Amino acid sequence: MTTSAQYVYTFAEGSRDMAALLGGKGAGLAEMTRLGLPVPPGFTITADACRVYLATGQEPSGMGLQAAHALAELETAMGRSLGGPDDPLLVSVRSGARFSMPGMMETILDVGLNDRSVTGLAKVSGDERFAWDSYRRLVQMFGHTVMGVDGELFDRALADHKARRGASGDHELDAGELILLTDEYKDLVRAQTGEDFPQDPEEQLARAVRAVFDSWNAERARIYRRREHIPEDLGTAVNIQAMVFGNLGHDSGTGVAFTRDPATGERGVYGDYLPDAQGEDVVAGVRDALPLTELKRIDRGVYAELGDHLRTLEGHYRDLCDVEFTVERGKLWILQTRVGKRTAEAAFRIAHDLCRENVITADDALHRVDGTALTRLMFPRFDTGSGDRPLAHGVPASPGAAVGVAVFDSAEAVRRAAAGDRTVLVRRETTADDLPGMIAAQAVLTSRGGKTSHAAVVARGMGKVCVCGAEGLIVDTEARLFTTSSGVTVREGDTLSVDGTAGTVHRGALPLTASDVGRTLQTGTATDALTGAVLATLAHADEVRRLQVRANADTPEDATRARALGAQGIGLVRTEHMFLGERRPLIEAMILADDDTARDSALAALLPLQRADFTGILAAMDGLPVTVRLIDPPLHEFLPDHVDLAVRLARAAHPDPRDRALLDAVERMHEQNPMLGLRGVRLALTVPGLTAMQVRAIAEAVVSRLRDGGQPYAEIMIPLVGTVEELRLARAETERVLSEVSAETGTPLSCPIGTMIELPRAALTAGRIAEAADFFSFGTNDLTQTTWGLSRDDAEASFFPRYLERGVFPVSPFETIDRDGVGRLVELAVAEGRAARPGLETGICGEHGGDPDSIHFFHRAGLDYVSCSPFRIPAARLEAGRAALPEPADASETR
Ligand code: PEP
Ligand code: MG
Repeated sequence: MTTSAQYVYTFAEGSRDMAALLGGKGAGLAEMTRLGLPVPPGFTITADACRVYLATGQEPSGMGLQAAHALAELETAMGRSLGGPDDPLLVSVRSGARFSMPGMMETILDVGLNDRSVTGLAKVSGDERFAWDSYRRLVQMFGHTVMGVDGELFDRALADHKARRGASGDHELDAGELILLTDEYKDLVRAQTGEDFPQDPEEQLARAVRAVFDSWNAERARIYRRREHIPEDLGTAVNIQAMVFGNLGHDSGTGVAFTRDPATGERGVYGDYLPDAQGEDVVAGVRDALPLTELKRIDRGVYAELGDHLRTLEGHYRDLCDVEFTVERGKLWILQTRVGKRTAEAAFRIAHDLCRENVITADDALHRVDGTALTRLMFPRFDTGSGDRPLAHGVPASPGAAVGVAVFDSAEAVRRAAAGDRTVLVRRETTADDLPGMIAAQAVLTSRGGKTSHAAVVARGMGKVCVCGAEGLIVDTEARLFTTSSGVTVREGDTLSVDGTAGTVHRGALPLTASDVGRTLQTGTATDALTGAVLATLAHADEVRRLQVRANADTPEDATRARALGAQGIGLVRTEHMFLGERRPLIEAMILADDDTARDSALAALLPLQRADFTGILAAMDGLPVTVRLIDPPLHEFLPDHVDLAVRLARAAHPDPRDRALLDAVERMHEQNPMLGLRGVRLALTVPGLTAMQVRAIAEAVVSRLRDGGQPYAEIMIPLVGTVEELRLARAETERVLSEVSAETGTPLSCPIGTMIELPRAALTAGRIAEAADFFSFGTNDLTQTTWGLSRDDAEASFFPRYLERGVFPVSPFETIDRDGVGRLVELAVAEGRAARPGLETGICGEHGGDPDSIHFFHRAGLDYVSCSPFRIPAARLEAGRAALPEPADASETR
């Protein structure tokens, strides 16, 4: 006899370590059951079962039987049978993947109700209205989710009934009206599907489970996964749990509670409570919830018990937890817990506070934050000194400052974003269908719902600015406008400023100013709890990291800024940036020179300018290494545009002979594919005097700094080398000039001379190249282009969006290093380079140097440093620290 795999676990069988199998929700329910918290009993069907179903279209063999056993056990425990006619057991059926995907997949409540059990429920609950309200909700949810009836049709029928009764809320419909409504819903289901709403409770359950499996592939779930980089093949578990009811009168209710404030990180229990309501009502924001502290007034005992459970959970998980709970006639039930999502600000504060409270170590605290969150905190905020009066106040649900034009539906936000506009998505409340618009918009503004509404939870998860429940706003989606309580009307296309930190909305674009965190990172002085937490966490990252962090900087100002942000040197000075602007004519003169004398005089004019640049940068980075790369781009990039020149010549009555010469040069130097053309070391070997001038400028700058008592450490870097022969020739020229300057000035000069590794051939022959290189710096921008055989600018503008959409790669290889391809070349070059030259210094100066995920790779690849733009330095320091930590034993999955 073959025994099939275990696809069903009762809550008593699972634990927090089983999130991959039971999903985050299932693992949380199991853990709470083990801790003895009051969890309605139930069981979880595993994500493995979902994967089999998605792959084959059928549940795995054995699953049905195992689920039937678990159900029987549940029925015994509850002393009731599913959908039993007199006292029915009802269950909820909820999705729960490994990573939380709020509102992206389906939930079906009240499974087990039918024409008979609804009467039984009415009798045992003593509340006919409640029973019929539950039944109509089931027909609605099941009809829509399982049977595919358009949800709008149900909404319309409900609205008609309310209008007939002059009712403003669902609450005002009595049992008689709800019976009629339920009948109407069932008719709707029959008319739309040709099938009756199923009366068999077990059929309801089986079909609801399948619908949850199917919802893994719903469009909104796919969009969410793509955005959050959640793998497509995880599948979702399904939780089947005995229903408890928060809508049984005033001694019942439902709520969401956090062990700390998920928006600010402030200590103290925090949440929303909705008396006499079902769980989904809080999230949907259909009625404004009360602050959780009100529960203390309503039922002191329940409030105290909830507080105890929250403390137990936070102590157990050693982190911010959130719970969904229901009070059924004075009895508290916990329906869900997880390590809660939080804003960037809260992440830093909570980690730091827990560390100070000795709940977690400094390493743990560092694990709990990341570079992306830190970067978010460095974004500018609105200048509050402007004295502008807000149009409206709401709940500050997700912090930050955003400016955009008002749009009133998801599609418009997407359409305008594609046209390059920044938008603010304004809705009464959001649902999962608004997800594409929320991604496209800069901010989300709603008129209903609290900090735990869909808009707030999803926006926080995405790091998107959000103000919700903005009091007094009347949003008219059809007319595409909203009006404020003082009568101001804002129409689609009007500019708004949304302050997610203060919870305010303003007309027009407010001025921005540096964030407190941005300022603190420059000054090193904390001004409040948040900045204190950021500095302490970064200090720990600096203590534990092995990777050094340098900056890509081309000016003394950038170098100074980078140094203040913690740069330990410059990993890349792109010298060509010094050839732009007013200096362009000098470069043009060099290109147009038709003999050595003319070229030498053009180069001689450039020399003092470059020397001054290098002197300034070396001064700003005094005592730290500065890696200067010799000119890289093809020279025609410094010439005017071909079309502009041709037009200018054609239009001129007396054409300028210089324009004619320039046009000739542009035509002569034209390349089909400049990225693979005459650039980098190829220029050094073919344009006489260019390398010599640059090396001389560097050497003379070093001498000048030495004479001023400075400590200049210049390193000279040769770009785009493909063979050691190129490097040998360029190196010989460089050494010759260094000795010349040394002899002329009587100053010994020892600048390391290294190369960039940015061609696959360079990586593959790194052992040879290392013979002539004092250091390697990986130019992963070019290395990615040349490994993939594509040009970044062209590809990003053409087929990349489609590739990302189709999952060819989960994230652009220009953003995050492609470990399997480009990454392997890096590892190979490091190993072979170091084998040939022990102690060879290696770094990376492509864009990936500031990317959190890539930094972890570079740490493991054994590089000595990463180099990135100044703004990204704090995040790079943080990630370099995180990369050096051992994996925590209980890595919490908070994404
Ligand atoms: C690189 O190729 O990664 C690099 C840093 O050089 P650039 O971006 O200037 O080509
Ligand atoms: Mg390059």
